[in-house]
Amino acid sequence: MRRTRLYVEGSYGSGTGIELSVERARYLYRVLRLRAGDAISVFDGAGNEFEATIAAIGKAGATLRIGESSAPVGESWLDVHLVQGISRGERMDFVVQKATELGVDRISPVLTENGVVRLDAARAAKRREHWQKVAAGACEQCGRARLPHVDLPTPLKYWFGRRSPAAMTDLILHPGAATRLSDLEDPVTRVCLLIGPEGGFSASEYLDAEAAGFVAVSLGPRILRTETAAVAALAVLQSGWGDLGSRA
Ligand code: SAH
Repeated sequence: MRRTRLYVEGSYGSGTGIELSVERARYLYRVLRLRAGDAISVFDGAGNEFEATIAAIGKAGATLRIGESSAPVGESWLDVHLVQGISRGERMDFVVQKATELGVDRISPVLTENGVVRLDAARAAKRREHWQKVAAGACEQCGRARLPHVDLPTPLKYWFGRRSPAAMTDLILHPGAATRLSDLEDPVTRVCLLIGPEGGFSASEYLDAEAAGFVAVSLGPRILRTETAAVAALAVLQSGWGDLGSRA
């Protein structure tokens, strides 16, 4: 069986001991049935990974002894910032999980005019926390030791205003756009990718995106569901310019 990989927040190094939360300890003890002396791997979300041994474990807690550092899977050399129109519960979770597996660096969930989800400040913070956990779970599974950053949900129009300009290829997925995503010209090293929710973007959102320098690109003739669009676009990008491609 593959060794358990666990995301443990904090800064620690070889030779230190860390206490796990009761919730995590229970999961290791009851679900994974791990016991004292078992070996696992831990990573801190900032790109560091270590071997670890369970020093003590029970229903009430667990202590890990951190061993040698180990090399996690590398990060893609293509830096992708996904700006995703928030879709309903499970769909958005799916996007966050798959985007993490596909190597995204940052996810900004945005509220859009045609979006069906409405969030007040308290719920927005809760959703962000939830998505960050989904991303952590995906990192545990896929071998990444760097957690993509999930931003607080913001309305798209504020997001445009607050965005700090960076040297990026800025793209908006638009069914019917004349340019195909796969036809972008080299070099593509940093991408900011806007994807609409179930209901798509409104005409004024496309205009705002254009004014902000975003280029509309298409993913072919069929209208994909928002979550399919995210997976397909990230696969095209990582295959053309990142670590899914022949240059990997
Ligand atoms: N009725 C909506 C469809 C929304 S699909 C519309 O016509 O816009 C959800 C999102 O997925 C879209 O906003 C777009 O960003 C993306 N998308 C879906 N299919 C696509 C395609 N073939 N090309 C480019 N983007 C696509």
